[in-house]
Amino acid sequence: MNILAIESSCDETAAAVVQDGRTVLSNCVASQIEMHTIYGGVVPEIASRKHVEAVTGLADQALEQAGMTRSDLDAIAVTYAPGLIGAVLVGVNFAKGAAMALDLPLIPVHHVRGHIAANYLTHPDLEPPFVCLCVSGGTTAIVDVKSYTEMEVLGGTRDDAAGECFDKVARVLGIGYPGGGPMDRLAQGGDDSRYELPRAHVAGHELDMSFSGLKTASLNLIHNAQQKGEELSLQDFAASFGRAVSDSLVPRAMAAARMKGYGRLAVAGGVAANSRIRADLQAACAKSGDKLYLPELKYCGDNAAMIGCQGFYEWKVGHVAGLDLNAYATRDISLG
Ligand code: ATP
Ligand code: MG
Ligand code: FE
Repeated sequence: MNILAIESSCDETAAAVVQDGRTVLSNCVASQIEMHTIYGGVVPEIASRKHVEAVTGLADQALEQAGMTRSDLDAIAVTYAPGLIGAVLVGVNFAKGAAMALDLPLIPVHHVRGHIAANYLTHPDLEPPFVCLCVSGGTTAIVDVKSYTEMEVLGGTRDDAAGECFDKVARVLGIGYPGGGPMDRLAQGGDDSRYELPRAHVAGHELDMSFSGLKTASLNLIHNAQQKGEELSLQDFAASFGRAVSDSLVPRAMAAARMKGYGRLAVAGGVAANSRIRADLQAACAKSGDKLYLPELKYCGDNAAMIGCQGFYEWKVGHVAGLDLNAYATRDISLG
């Protein structure tokens, strides 16, 4: 089963060919980051236009790198939610056209389900059920992955996503966009107890989180230091910030793993690349005895290989769409 997968939900246009869910034959990504950097964040209208320019060539490139022609394909998979609506629509419309022209099934894939599936590409032995901590630019959720296609959100952020918090704080520090990677590198060797930052609790909801307070406290701390002319140690601040984020995520992921008792915990999404969070999870799982699954760095951020992987499992249970498939800015992960 050869699936051509398309991803265009944010600022990366991506195309990949994946065989039987787990074998990546090609994985092409065209990043728009340079374009958006001057604005300090993604400009939706520019993102949509760049996807239009890139998607056809990228699909051809993915086929070529896989050593295939269009007639070797068995299905088209595409991210149909969630994301910037104009951006998602570009991929969906391209995929519809390809499915119609080649007379192939069209498989709609939830982007965050794709992030979770990135773990299957890295770990051939991983199978559901397991608990997955999904942390990215728009999502922070703890998901019970009951089967390849049945999922339940156990908890998550009540406001900002962890990645968004990294990005906003990094922007004010002027260290680049997206800010998670630069913050991570800056934090290396820093004193993580130098700056006091809050950890929020949502009363009565053990697995829920909040990052807006951490974001505001961080921005106030930075502005106050600037106003008073005090020098802020970027390294120590980044380390303190990374620790605060990890302190919110890791104990809750561990609590969910304990609650479910599968003995397997996975992590997914762009923030899964964070070295502090990876190290803290490794330490916590070494203690609890849970097996920890971390996606390879190349599969943490947005890519189409993960969409092709999840698409295979969606197809297996009959999740295919007609040409009336729509794109959605938001969509519950449990709906698929
Ligand atoms: P979603 O997947 O929720 O729709 P998205 O697709 O925009 O959102 P991703 O591309 O999956 O998000 O992840 C990007 C996010 O990951 C950004 O917020 C970025 O700052 C963050 N990120 C990337 N690398 C790191 C890192 N090493 N440490 C922390 N955050 C990181
Ligand atoms: Mg991205
Ligand atoms: Fe993503």
